[in-house]
Amino acid sequence: MRYIVALTGGIGSGKSTVANAFAALGATIVDADIIARQVVEPGSDALRAIQARFGAGILLPDGRLHRALLRQRVFSSPADKNWLNRLLHPLIQQETRQQMARASGHYVLWVVPLLVENQLQSQADRILVVDVPTEVQIARTLSRDGISPGQIKNILAAQVSREQRLACADDIIDNSGRPEAITAEVAKLHHRYLQLAASATRQD
Ligand code: ADP
Repeated sequence: MRYIVALTGGIGSGKSTVANAFAALGATIVDADIIARQVVEPGSDALRAIQARFGAGILLPDGRLHRALLRQRVFSSPADKNWLNRLLHPLIQQETRQQMARASGHYVLWVVPLLVENQLQSQADRILVVDVPTEVQIARTLSRDGISPGQIKNILAAQVSREQRLACADDIIDNSGRPEAITAEVAKLHHRYLQLAASATRQD
């Protein structure tokens, strides 16, 4: 079984930035957000099932899932939300396992924003949290996404607190400084993970 390092952090904390730094060193990345999109690609059974339940209006004109609309629909209906979770979670889990099995390299960096929210900690051998103060998180998300402060507040309210996330961390990257500052930190962690992976005897 491959050694799995989960990389998590709140919105705008710098997960993608940190993951890119690991990738530049040759680490293999498995990205939970990409997998969540792959399982509902046009032509998939899951997308057909979603269309059957919510109607053709749940698709964009080009046939892809209208994710924002689906989010709205499940937000206002717990039954729909449960239905969707029961459909997608096993598919996401299966695809994640397949990508990890196919991955090359000694360890996999699993970028998983909602690791703690979805209680997936036990599926990783090691947990790396990217951490910034909440004000920095809000400011960077605002300038990246151009969404309103109210929308960010809603997203933050749906995520675990900084303290809850940090309580799960084996390693922490402080990303409150300049982006270049993480390079040395990432290089140190990459070597540590290579060592840990080499000596791991994981029992599943
Ligand atoms: P996440 O993937 O956790 O949502 P990103 O890596 O996309 O976060 O970072 C959020 C935004 O902040 C991006 O626009 C990114 O370029 C910027 N950013 C990331 N790290 C830093 C940093 N250390 N200093 C300034 N801006 C940063």
